[in-house]
Amino acid sequence: MLEKQIDPGHKPVRNALRIVGPALALTGAVFLIVGLVDFFRAFGGHGAPTLFWCIFVGMFLLPLGGILTSYGFMGPVMRYMAEETAPVGKDTFNYMAHGTQAGIRTVAGALGQGLREGGLGGGSTAMVRCHKCNALAPAEAKFCGQCGQPLGKTKPCPQCHELNDPDAKFCDNCGHALG
Ligand SMILES: [Zn+2]
Ligand SMILES: [Zn+2]
Repeated sequence: MLEKQIDPGHKPVRNALRIVGPALALTGAVFLIVGLVDFFRAFGGHGAPTLFWCIFVGMFLLPLGGILTSYGFMGPVMRYMAEETAPVGKDTFNYMAHGTQAGIRTVAGALGQGLREGGLGGGSTAMVRCHKCNALAPAEAKFCGQCGQPLGKTKPCPQCHELNDPDAKFCDNCGHALG
């Protein structure tokens, strides 16, 4: 066995624990049962519980035996748990990494969109198209960089004073013919 090669000195101790541990746990369980039976019999009108201390002995021996047993079986149990939890751990890690990535992407996307909407990124949302030559110009530009055409809504309506596109024939707001 591989175990023998790793720690040959611990094997007898472990084997002893595998016997002593369950034996202690079993003894503890017996004490616990005896104590409890005596306790409930006392409740049934058989006088004071005389073996009440057995409960405490059992409560002490049972976990002790359990601990010793777990030490005795520590190696195989640990290996088993490692094998059992490894894929789960990996899945959890992947899931978390995936979720984190998605979260970062969402945050980065929102941040980028915010920057673009704020005009810092110079994205397409902050651009306008020249009515004359169709070239793109920043929304805040007053004239087209290609042909010098005035950009934005610069033509006031004589009726409602709404500002319209420079080449608009009719008012966007009231439909009045623009000169
Ligand atoms: Zn232009
Ligand atoms: Zn108008």
